[in-house]
Amino acid sequence: MAPSAPPVVHPATTLVNVPAGEHGLELARRVAAACTACDLYARATQTVFGEGRPSASLMLVGEQPGDREDRAGEPFVGPAGAMLDRALAEAGIDRERVFVTNVVKHFKWKPVPGSKRRLHEKPNAVEIRACRPWLDLELEIVRPDLVVALGATAAQAILGPAFRITEGRGELLDAPDFGRQVIATFHPSAILRARTPGDRDRMLAALVADLALAAETIRAA
Ligand code: SF4
Repeated sequence: MAPSAPPVVHPATTLVNVPAGEHGLELARRVAAACTACDLYARATQTVFGEGRPSASLMLVGEQPGDREDRAGEPFVGPAGAMLDRALAEAGIDRERVFVTNVVKHFKWKPVPGSKRRLHEKPNAVEIRACRPWLDLELEIVRPDLVVALGATAAQAILGPAFRITEGRGELLDAPDFGRQVIATFHPSAILRARTPGDRDRMLAALVADLALAAETIRAA
């Protein structure tokens, strides 16, 4: 009988006793830059690891980097990032004081026929699961008091596949498997895709209210 293939060792699990704060983040970022634990690395420019205050009380988690983030190597720097900045400012939160990341660290995309555009594709459950050790490591290093999940993909990755933004948005939820409380809200890119200006205004107001709840919760902790 042919010998079975050795189990795949996820690079995040090779990092043990990672120090909290900036040193730990730098170490994790370096190792994540070479991650090949799922197929997404092959077509993306680079790993987009989380960024922000290394000891932030608040961590914002989105779905995956977009086209601009993939090129820049930083999360939330494109149009969705500008929308997030606006919502944070309206909620009275300084972006410099939070940590921002995604459940998946590589950009998943498909080509647009006849164009150089790269069209965002939603990551699947296998890819989200493969990338989870990086999010767990970010949580271990940053140790936030509260997490805000931006959009359905992040919310379902954290709160389970049955979670619906339409039902549970804007509530302070316990996520025992995740080790801290979570507020789920709209992803800024969903606001950019809103069908009418009215929908867009309502979704932005909801995002701002949910971020304000997050800020208030941290202050009261
Ligand atoms: S998406 Fe995540 S698990 Fe997949 S290769 Fe990139 S960093 Fe690794």
